[in-house]
Amino acid sequence: MGIISIASGNSCWRGLDYFKDKKVIKLRKINDNEYTSIVRGNKNYNVYLNIEHPRKSTCDCPLAKGKRVICKHIVATYFTAMPEEATNFEKEQAKLQEEYEQYQDELYDKVIGYINKMSKKELIEELIHIFDYGPEWIYDDFIKRNYIE
Ligand SMILES: [Zn+2]
Repeated sequence: MGIISIASGNSCWRGLDYFKDKKVIKLRKINDNEYTSIVRGNKNYNVYLNIEHPRKSTCDCPLAKGKRVICKHIVATYFTAMPEEATNFEKEQAKLQEEYEQYQDELYDKVIGYINKMSKKELIEELIHIFDYGPEWIYDDFIKRNYIE
């Protein structure tokens, strides 16, 4: 398992920001799989990165200290050591986003197609169901869009 696959989404995105903002200072290569760095944050944090065994990576920030957590500082160090992985990460996320949007478009078309075939009684029941289970702003939105006094 790679660093990115075991880090949280939040750590990955924040780590990418840190990488782009060049907050990783003093990157030192021990060998192809191991690096140390200092990462600028609220304080300077000391990172040990192990690419081959990601769980052995450490950082002395409050989130990761003494735990096997992959924090944004470790991710930022990883991206700084392997910039092509940052590019891959961004490409992969853009692809996922595109797939998600395409899937949502398909669902939308399906739902609209189905709604057009429903009877008035079925539509009323469905609308009441949506009002019962939908978010609270749905009432406000409905009232505003229909100019209900
Ligand atoms: Zn950290």
